[in-house]
Amino acid sequence: MADVQGALALATHRLGERSEADLLLLHLLGRPRSWLFAHADEPLSMAQRLAYDALVQRRLAGEPLAYIIGRRDFWTLELEVTPATLIPRPETERLVELALERLPRDRACRVADLGTGSGAIALAIASERPLAQVLATDASDAALVVARRNAQRLGLANISFAPGDWLAPLTGQRFDLIVSNPPYIETADPHLAQGDLRFEPASALASGHDGLDDIRRIVRAARDHLEPGGWLLFEHGWNQGAACRSLLHETGYAEVFTALDLEGRERVSGGDVLMNECSDARPDLCSFIY
Ligand code: GLN
Repeated sequence: MADVQGALALATHRLGERSEADLLLLHLLGRPRSWLFAHADEPLSMAQRLAYDALVQRRLAGEPLAYIIGRRDFWTLELEVTPATLIPRPETERLVELALERLPRDRACRVADLGTGSGAIALAIASERPLAQVLATDASDAALVVARRNAQRLGLANISFAPGDWLAPLTGQRFDLIVSNPPYIETADPHLAQGDLRFEPASALASGHDGLDDIRRIVRAARDHLEPGGWLLFEHGWNQGAACRSLLHETGYAEVFTALDLEGRERVSGGDVLMNECSDARPDLCSFIY
């Protein structure tokens, strides 16, 4: 394994996956993916081989690839991720799609992303809707540091950040769309002690005995922060669709729906506040109807 090709063959054998072997080596050498095509015969120094072996060992010990290389692709963006943030997942792109379907391209609007983590959802929306103003919140200061760095590196200026729990930083503000990928795993779920989840922040994953503690808080509080016609959309577990729809109905949302992810599982639910609805918080908005 004196050259790139040999090192990759050995690491692929150990990891069982060529793409992971590639990403770890490119991370170590600080090279872009395209570099591999023309450099299979490049020699590796002893120090590089030892460092590569250490990265492969970490991966074999179960550490998520995204944390080892500090990067994860989400939507069209390459994001920095650290153990302070959840690793963005492909199913969350469904939430972004559903959000974009509800956001105008040709005029300003306001969007809030609650518990933004690495900033994945907020940054994807900000990049697709330059006229939108996106506010991203998180209770974790360490996560907000990462999200801010991502915004800066991507050159996205239509996004701001506020520390705090769920809707606490939204006091006195209203939005056209509120999105969130909150924690939703049951606290006793054995998966929390397996795979990548072991390394991710527990506060971003688990939420009470039925996994719905944070969703309940968000659904109840979001209504008073939505403009007439505004939408709340959030991700949840594959078996929580019915409970989420009930919660939305009970709380007075209209047009309640659940969307499936690419694997056909119920994954995102939402509802809106009707245009002509008289909210206690804003009787001025629709008094003319009565
Ligand atoms: N979808 C993630 C998982 O099941 C959980 C993410 C979350 O709790 N928001 O691994």
